[in-house]
Amino acid sequence: MNRRDEQALLQRVATLLADPAHGEHPLFEPLKALAEQYRSQQQQLERLISISDRYQQLALEARQVTQKRYERSLCRQQKLSRISDGYQAMMRERNRALHQASTHDPLTQLANRRLIDERLHELETSGRNYTLALLDIDRFKTINDRHGHDVGDRLLVAIADAMREVLRESDLCGRWGGEEFILLLAETRIDEAHTIVERLRDRVSAVMVTSCEERLSVTLSAGISEHRLGERHLITLQRADQALLEAKRSGRDRCLITTR
Ligand code: GH3
Ligand code: MG
Ligand code: MG
Repeated sequence: MNRRDEQALLQRVATLLADPAHGEHPLFEPLKALAEQYRSQQQQLERLISISDRYQQLALEARQVTQKRYERSLCRQQKLSRISDGYQAMMRERNRALHQASTHDPLTQLANRRLIDERLHELETSGRNYTLALLDIDRFKTINDRHGHDVGDRLLVAIADAMREVLRESDLCGRWGGEEFILLLAETRIDEAHTIVERLRDRVSAVMVTSCEERLSVTLSAGISEHRLGERHLITLQRADQALLEAKRSGRDRCLITTR
């Protein structure tokens, strides 16, 4: 029976009970009691339904609050993890920049003495063959004296760029001193190194820097020596330095090898 039929039946019973003509009827009292009991059960049922509805509403609200809290906490965690990722990327970049600054010359961005020394020690302990070359710009002082230090700096930067163009991935070029450079050529015999250095000297002699409409270029003198098995790298360096001095003494703009 649906709600409307039920209401209609109750209405009919109420109308019958209200009619004084039925007061003496033997079913009057039981029907009246039954109707009251039914109404009281109905009220009880409605109260229970209302309590259950309220309870469900409260449970729903509690679930929504928990869900919102969870979403907020998730949002906070995602934000924190984004900040942490950014911070880590920044630290990585700082470390990279710090490492670059501590191992490279700020003017030319070539390897500095610290990095070259590290590589020389590595090569010495690994026992790998290598050849090294010392290269010095010829009469560089006159460039500074005539055109100023800034022009000299520009020339140094242009020379370093030209050197990077010529060298192989495995070669290491460093700034050894003011206008002096060093090449570390791993797994390279002296003849091959000689060819590389001559190619590099050629390339550097083609570098031009303009100062007051004057085109300036320089030449390089070089000394090469190949590391000998078991030898300390300082000895190899001394031989290359000796060869460089010889190159300067004998007229500059050349590359020499000492075998002594
Ligand atoms: P040599 O052919 O005998 O090598 O002659 P040189 O003039 O190149 O050699 P010297 O040692 O007399 O002079 C080197 C010059 O290099 C002097 C110095 O001012 C210059 N120099 C060193 N470092 C820098 C630098 O970072 N920038 C500039 N512009 N000049 C530098
Ligand atoms: Mg010089
Ligand atoms: Mg010098």
